[in-house]
Order: sequence, then C-alpha cells, then structure tokens
Amino acid sequence: MKKPTIAVIGSSSMDLVVSSDKRPQAGETVLGKAFDTVPGGKGANQAVAAARLGADVYMIGCVGEDTYGEEITANLKNNGVHTDYVEPVTHERSGTAHIILAEGDNSIVVVKGANDHVTPQYIEKAEELLKNSDLVMIQQEVPEETVVHAAELCSRYGVPLLLNPAPARPVPEEVLAQVSYITPNEHEAEVLFGGPALSEALKVHQNKLFITEGAAGVRWHNGREEVLVPSFPVQAVDTTGAGDTFNAAFAVAVAEGKGMEESLRFANRAASLSVTGFGAQGGMPSREAVEEGLK
Ligand code: ATP
Repeated sequence: MKKPTIAVIGSSSMDLVVSSDKRPQAGETVLGKAFDTVPGGKGANQAVAAARLGADVYMIGCVGEDTYGEEITANLKNNGVHTDYVEPVTHERSGTAHIILAEGDNSIVVVKGANDHVTPQYIEKAEELLKNSDLVMIQQEVPEETVVHAAELCSRYGVPLLLNPAPARPVPEEVLAQVSYITPNEHEAEVLFGGPALSEALKVHQNKLFITEGAAGVRWHNGREEVLVPSFPVQAVDTTGAGDTFNAAFAVAVAEGKGMEESLRFANRAASLSVTGFGAQGGMPSREAVEEGLK
C-alpha cells in the first residue's frame, strides 16, 4: 500500500522541565532535583506520531534562530518527518514551555516565540504540498487566521483537513463548515459547543465531530446514532500526548482509506499505548505495536 502523505501545520517547541520537591514562592529560590529538555509542541508531536505510524509526513512550522530550533528540527528528521517547510525565523526564539514539576503537580509557562510566525502567508509557501496531500492536520497553537486560511485552502483543493481544536478556543463557524474532522477533548468540546448541547452538536456535526473522553474512548454520531468507541484498558503512567497520538493515528488511518469505526479503533489503540510510556513523544507507538495490539 502507498504511504499516505500528511501535512501538519502547527507548533513546535522545546519543553524545559525541572523537578523539585518544593515550588518556589514569589521571590524565593529553591534547589531543584533534575532538569531535562524534551521536544514538544502539538504540531511537532502529531507529526512525529504520524510518521511512526507509517505516513509520509511534512511539518509546516517555524523555529527560532537558536540551538533549540536546531534540536527541534533534528528531532523531527530523526523521526522521519520531512522538514523542508520548517524555517528558522531571524531574531526570534523557538517556542518554549517552562515546566516545574513539584508537590505532585505541574506549573507551566508557555512562550510561543517562532510559532506566532506560522501565518497565512507562511503556509502559502507550502501551497503545492497542501494541494497534493492526502490529508492536512492543524491545531490551535498557531494564530487563528492561519487556521481560517488553512481551512479555506483545503476546502478549495478538496483536501480533507483535521482540526484538533487544542488548546481550547472557539472555532469560527466558517472553519467548522469547511473542516472534514474536528477532534476536541471534553473540555474543548464544552468551550466550542457548550456542555448541555454536546449530544446535539454531535448530531449536527455527524461523521465530523469526534470528542475524546480519555480512558473511556471517543464519542461521535454516525448518522444513525451516537456511539462511544471504547479505548483499550492499559496501565497508564503518563497521559501527556495521548491526544496528539490519537489525532495522528486517526489521520493516518483515514488517509489510508480505512472506515470510520476502524480508524477510531486504530486511534484508540495507538493513544492507549502512548500513555504507557513517559513524555509526549516517548510513549508514541510504532505501527507494528499498534497492529499487534489490535489482534
Ligand atoms: P492529552 O492532553 O493528555 O494529550 P487529551 O485531553 O487531548 O489528552 P484525551 O481525551 O484525554 O485527550 O485522550 C485522547 C485519547 O487517548 C482517548 O480518546 C483514548 O483513546 C486515549 N487515552 C487517554 N487516556 C487513556 C487511558 N488512561 N487509557 C486508555 N486510553 C487512553
């Protein structure tokens, strides 16, 4: 079977993670226990997951003119993602997430940096690629006008667009009408459609809206009825990146021409495996592991 071509328009970043017994108060200095840097960003995570699952993946994004930018790009390449459309932005820093793990919880400061340069004009540089892709993915860590423009371009070229509306922010009506698939988690779905109206939203956006519900699986409306496709029971150690793996796996399956029910099972299986490993990308499974897990 020919590998599907998937273009991911989105963010990339370096997560700077410190673990400490105590969270510093304002004006306080504490000694930390460990420090690590981990590549992240929803766009890059989804690109890496889709490549591990066997698609031919192109990342469309921006990094800073700094060493993190070089590391982010190298990490994409090492995972088999094409980086022809990953550009360093002059005088800008790479996106970063500054994470303190302390007292059983995390506090995070995100600096968008170069991700704000993923503009409508920027993605036009990749117009030929977008036109020729089997599927395009985008999330909401890039400017809203970029999501609007991507939806316009994809609908003009008849290329399916999967919008993962994370982090939560309302999605313009015209985008909702143009996307082929939209995949909020429960919180994002409430922001988009309002809590009590979710069943109605699923019905209105049948075969398009897929609400992920963590360990429970994913809910959609297949035109006849609302269905919950259950995930697989696993020993979860770190759920970071479950959503990114779900989206990537769903995209790969759909782009390969699998039916909806089968694609959702494939996505649940991949995402359930991802929570058994540490870190967003650390747990992302290979194609073989997912297929083995579906037997
Ligand atoms: P995250 O922000 O942690 O990456 P999310 O909030 O975007 O995730 P979730 O709805 O929590 O998304 O999870 C996405 C999918 O991952 C679920 O639909 C399910 O397939 C799988 N999943 C998540 N947590 C578990 C779990 N504990 N056990 C099995 N599958 C899980």
